[in-house]
Amino acid sequence: MTTDKNILMNETRVRYAPSPTGDPHIGNLRSAIFNWLFAKKENGKFILRIEDTDQSRIVKNGIEKQQEALLWLGMQWDELYIQSERKSIYAKYSQKLIEEDKAYRCYATEEELDELRQKQKSEKKITRYDGRYRDYDKEKSLSRSKKEPYVIRFKSPQNGETQCFDKIRGGITFNNKELDDFVIIKSDGFPTYHFANVVDDHLMKISHVMRAEEWLPSLPKHVNIYNALGWEMPTFVHLPMILAPDKTKLSKRHGATSVQDFIDQGYIKPAMFNFLVLLGWAFDDKTEQFTINELKNIFDINKISKSPAIFNKEKLDWFNGKYIREINTNELAKEISIFFENSIEPNNFNIISSYDFKKIANMVKERSKTLNDSLILSEFLFKKPKFESKEEIITMCESDDQCKLVLEKSFKLLSDTKDFSISNLQNKLKKLMDDLNLKPKQVLGTLRIVITNQKISPPIFDCLNILEKEESLIRIQTAIDYL
Ligand code: GLU
Repeated sequence: MTTDKNILMNETRVRYAPSPTGDPHIGNLRSAIFNWLFAKKENGKFILRIEDTDQSRIVKNGIEKQQEALLWLGMQWDELYIQSERKSIYAKYSQKLIEEDKAYRCYATEEELDELRQKQKSEKKITRYDGRYRDYDKEKSLSRSKKEPYVIRFKSPQNGETQCFDKIRGGITFNNKELDDFVIIKSDGFPTYHFANVVDDHLMKISHVMRAEEWLPSLPKHVNIYNALGWEMPTFVHLPMILAPDKTKLSKRHGATSVQDFIDQGYIKPAMFNFLVLLGWAFDDKTEQFTINELKNIFDINKISKSPAIFNKEKLDWFNGKYIREINTNELAKEISIFFENSIEPNNFNIISSYDFKKIANMVKERSKTLNDSLILSEFLFKKPKFESKEEIITMCESDDQCKLVLEKSFKLLSDTKDFSISNLQNKLKKLMDDLNLKPKQVLGTLRIVITNQKISPPIFDCLNILEKEESLIRIQTAIDYL
């Protein structure tokens, strides 16, 4: 049984071990965050290990996508390993197991195995490998290996129990009758996940294996490999599942699940990080907001929960809105400019870049849950109002004449205004309403139409403030000309 003695004796070394098979999922990133924070807390090492031994599932740029997602969240790795470059290492250990009669070559063809499965199915038995090469003659096995393809299978114990230990769940006993002789080296010479994972965790001196709970059923296989190779085990920490609010496993059908989806929708790093760390971990029963630096000091693996975490999108939105309001203006301005550049046409981005992004940040921050909200609120900057009919302009007023009066008086007032601060614009336009004896809807509503003509935009004073005098007057004059 493994204890935490690794922590006392050796350096803490943890790893994030993604397979580069698609866009990094937020569940993967939750594992990465837990590992990274634990390494930081313990002054240990955070290792990135690319598990790309299933060559058929690799996607283009899969490794880069994983690296980008880590870097986006601010997590730099200390060491990087790529399993496909380590084939000879796994071959060496599989040979050792064969020599010690703890593994064997299996020559069963696909057709044979298919037939076996069909037979087991028809007999209503569990489908699994039947050990047909387990006791095969060693000489024959060796000579066939020179000319025939084969896989290498692990000799799993057939009786008794495998004792496993998980830091969160304690001791878990698996019945060995449920284990079959699983493949450790495939016919293409690449190792399977189970084998490469154990060999690497050992050689890379991993002290704690923190990974998703989905891997818990594989633990007895891993434990048996450790035992067969006579290696000491790391501490296993299986992280609770992430479920959707309907309590089913979180998947695409629940909406965004990849990190890139969330970036594209305008979620920002500190919010995402804070939200993800709470999926299966809590500091206490009340504190929810943590900076990454705070987490580096307080993250405690003993506080990882056993029960599944629920992915609550409203909570993420709430966090994101809160961080958008609270991060400093320079930082938000930078986030906004990057997001806008990636989301809108270059021409429109050029127009918007002529405004001060810090001013845009201040204009949108109280009103945005996501950077996409910020974009919607800023669209009036590059989308000049276009009207198809007069009616669109006068809709807030009682008559054409009233609308014309509002616009002409506003034009005059703003032409004479030097100070375009929000508060001064507020005072001036309020006075204009009083002087004309008109309602806010008629004056401010009409101005809002001619200045932005958007369903969603910031208050008119903020819009005038950011557009500044010249552009504000051009937009009012264009509407007057149209009437
Ligand atoms: N490659 C596995 C995955 O992507 C790693 C599991 C582990 O951390 O052991 O889920």
